[in-house]
Amino acid sequence: MSSTKSICVFCGARSGLRPEYTTAATETGQLIADEGWRLVYGAGDIGLMGDVARAAKTAGGDTLGVMPMHLVNREIAKRDLGQLILTETMHERKKVMFMNCDAIVVLPGGGGSLDEFFEVLTWRQLGLHAKPIFLLDVAGYWQPLLALLDHVIAQGFADETMRSYVEVVTDAPALRVALRKDFSRHNASSE
Ligand code: AMP
Repeated sequence: MSSTKSICVFCGARSGLRPEYTTAATETGQLIADEGWRLVYGAGDIGLMGDVARAAKTAGGDTLGVMPMHLVNREIAKRDLGQLILTETMHERKKVMFMNCDAIVVLPGGGGSLDEFFEVLTWRQLGLHAKPIFLLDVAGYWQPLLALLDHVIAQGFADETMRSYVEVVTDAPALRVALRKDFSRHNASSE
């Protein structure tokens, strides 16, 4: 079995308004490749998705893209990935991405990224997995989401533990440190 770690990145199919988002996406792709990890993502060549993948590829990293067939033209499937898996449905896409990763990183994005984030968070809450979930809070982009999670907990609709499943980092160097730490903790506990 391969010991290479795979990082699933959920992020926008658009670039957003602030240049910091693109910078963070590029740095994330780079650091994944630098560490010898594999990027798993939605296979698009547009927005922050394209930035992450291009950076990982340019830095010599391995990449796995997963996309439903009906989005191949709309999200411009990147053709030069290490591996491209085409699925029938959105659900299948999320499942394949999830099954092929050791950690999840959520960069700024829209409804699709939020859907993906909540799916892995709620699965974690239900005890269906123990994969770490990192929110890259670039320029405070995810503060309203974190406030919403706190509100949900404060109003008694979720346990405090839900918040503890989300590891917030503010930039790519901090993400690198947090991922390394998590993987070394995991290696130590499985020895
Ligand atoms: P967005 O964050 O909205 O730019 O979308 C990021 C990625 O999530 C894109 O590849 C979308 O195809 C995908 N996406 C959009 N809606 C959903 C959904 N309901 N479930 C899973 N992925 C989605």
